[in-house]
This record gives sequence, structure tokens and C-alpha cells, in this order.
Amino acid sequence: MSPIWHPFTQHGLGEPIPLVTRAEGSAIFTADGRRVIDAISSWWVTTHGHCHPRIMQAIADQAQRLDQLIFAGWTHEPAEALARDLVAITPPELAHVFFSDSGSTSVEVALKMALGYWANRGEPRHRILVLEHGYHGDTIGAMSVGARGVFNRQYAPLLFDVGTIPFPEPGAEQACLDALDAACRDGAAAFIVEPLVLGAGGMRFYPAAVLAEMRRICAAHGVLFIADEVMTGWGRTGTRFACEQAGVVPDLLCLSKGLTGGSLPLAVTLASEPLFEAHRSDDRARMFFHSSSYTANPIACAAACANLAVWREEPVGERIATLAERQARHVAALGGVGNPRALGTIAAFELEDARPGYLSDLAPRLLAFFRERDVLLRPLGNTLYVMPPYCIDEADLATIYAAIGEAIEVLTAH
Ligand SMILES: *Cc1c(COP(=O)(O)O)cnc(C)c1O
Repeated sequence: MSPIWHPFTQHGLGEPIPLVTRAEGSAIFTADGRRVIDAISSWWVTTHGHCHPRIMQAIADQAQRLDQLIFAGWTHEPAEALARDLVAITPPELAHVFFSDSGSTSVEVALKMALGYWANRGEPRHRILVLEHGYHGDTIGAMSVGARGVFNRQYAPLLFDVGTIPFPEPGAEQACLDALDAACRDGAAAFIVEPLVLGAGGMRFYPAAVLAEMRRICAAHGVLFIADEVMTGWGRTGTRFACEQAGVVPDLLCLSKGLTGGSLPLAVTLASEPLFEAHRSDDRARMFFHSSSYTANPIACAAACANLAVWREEPVGERIATLAERQARHVAALGGVGNPRALGTIAAFELEDARPGYLSDLAPRLLAFFRERDVLLRPLGNTLYVMPPYCIDEADLATIYAAIGEAIEVLTAH
């Protein structure tokens, strides 16, 4: 038996854990010779496809030159090039790039920057506003700003208090905005939100106009606006960043997952001038006190530079548009599902279930069902979603939806 303790895995259930030996494009290959379609981009990270040659080459080349470097007081070309490229493709207000190594840490960094901003201005504000059903990672701070539930009940006493704004359900958008306005009036340091799509909270979509209005309200009250685009970034919602669809410029922008095309762990928190300026001083006590050992690892930065080159030089936008059109068509054709929806490369719907929610009895049965059909899908409770790499072809996509159609028939039959 393997000594490995896997994430989000109940080892007591004895579910099989397949051994994977390689991956290419939209597929992973197992040691026992199976080709499995990666319908969730290996948990939302793989954008262009597995083992994109250009990114793999950049990693190999960089590994010959510089492996790792302390980033406090030192710098290197892959990080410099990447920071320049990121500033060039994001709104001009986001002029500063802080590196870290995962989505969760990019969120922790954003929260600490926001609190540091207020503290250094001598106007301490600590309250963080969040959106109902949000997810921002699994570290203690990231859990604190995320939805409370079975994932974090055991740690509840350690999670800090936040102001929760109701999700803008269809027809209840104004209630959400009014609650945000009231909470901002009461005084808050920052509002953190996943733009357009709440991922782990059940692939919940809300309109760009609501996002734009949220941003406007925060600006009106001087509450910092943190956009967590860890999942929505890099084309997932149809545009490179979801904020673009709402014309929103956040004060802080968190990016990870697709930043390296999904090849290596890396994250950035982009910050606007006022955030940077609040920490810049000749007083060492006002610096931003945060680092992790692998901050801006050169090999990961080289992979991210290659990802940006792929975006510049390959028809990524066309691939996303093609996938978006196919996703919308496939999900609309499904019968017997609740709330079928698609946005960009993401399609989702609900399955009828006696026990909805993350611990749905349906989820483990579905997992096994799809595993047998060589399709990697991982339901969020009774919400099923398809989020493949952009290179997936129609044949693989059709296989995924055929398996889903079969699952609906077999597993939800009364
Ligand atoms: C996945 C995710 C995170 C956490 O990223 P990790 O790299 O897993 O730490 C944060 N925010 C959002 C919106 C995510 O989807």
C-alpha cells in the first residue's frame, strides 16, 4: 500500500487511485494502458492541453540555466520578462506583480496587502466582505473568506469573521448589490470575489453587469476590490480574464492555475499603485512582510512566459470560441438535467438527487461510473461540470457527453 495521503480523498472508502504515466493534449494515460479524457483539465489548471511542446521546451531550457533563486533582494530574467508581459496584458492600473506559488497563497497575499494598505495609512480597517458560496483556497485565511461548510467545519473556531453578501441569484441581483452597499457603508477593508463564476461553490454564474455594479459600489466607498481569477483567468470564461467582460479593473488581481498553462505551480497577485505606494517608504517596518521559499521560481516563470507566448502566437482565442460553441450545444442537448448552463469553456448542470450538496451520494457513484468509461469527471456534489483543455476535439467532447447521457439514464432512473 502506498504511503501517500491524497488531497480531498477518503482513504477509508478504498476507491481505486489509478497510476498515470504520461499525458498529451486532452488525455492522460494510465500504467494499465488506458487513455482517459481529462474533462476537467486536471482540476482547472491545464489550458492549452497537457505537455504543450512550447511550454515543455521552455522548462527544459530554463532548467539548464537557473533552477532557483532567493527573490528577496535578487531577481532573474524569467521573472522580469513575465512581470512585464503580465503588466502588458492587464489594465494599466495593475502596475505591480507579486509572485507566490498557489492560488491560495495569491489570495493570502491579496488579503495581507489590503490590510497592510489600511494599516500603513493609519486608518486600520480589518473587515473583509465575501460573496456567499465563494471559494478561495484551503489555507486558513483563504478558508476564512470562503463558504463555510463540511470542508472547513473542523477549523471553524480558527477562521476569522467576514461579512457575507448574498449570491446574486436570478431575480435577486438588487438584494445582493444593496447588501454590498450597506456592508461597505459600515466600513470594510476589502471585498473579495470570483468574477462571473463561483467555481468550487457549484459553478454558479452571475451576470457581468452585476460584477460591474459590485466594483462601482466598492469604489464609491473606498473598499478595495480583490478579483480572484485563479479559476476564471486564462480564457476559462471566454475572455482572457473574466473581469474584461464587465469592464472591471480590480485593485488586486489573483492569478494561478492556468498561469503556466497548467504545467508548474506559480501564482501572482497584481496590485494597483495605491497598494504598492502604501507599503513603499524609507521605514523598513512598512514593507510587505511576505515570502515563500519558491517565490518566482525561475523554471515556473519560464513556463509562464511560454504560456504567454502561446497566447500571443497561437490561435488561442479561436480554440476557446470553438470549444465554447460546442460546450453550449452539448449541454443544451442534455435532457433531464437541472439548470443547464455554459459560459466560455465551462458547461455545468445539476442532477436530481435525494441528498444534494457536496456529500451527495450520487457523486462517488458518478465518479466510478465515469472512471469505468475512461472519462475524468469529478462532480461537485450533484453539480456536474465539463471544463476541458482548449485543444479537445469534437470526438473527445462527444465521448464525454455520451458518458454523461448514459450516467443520467442509468443513475437517476427511478
Ligand atoms: C483553485 C482556486 C483557488 C486555490 O488555488 P490553489 O492553487 O488550489 O491553492 C483559489 N481561488 C479560486 C477561485 C480557485 O478556483
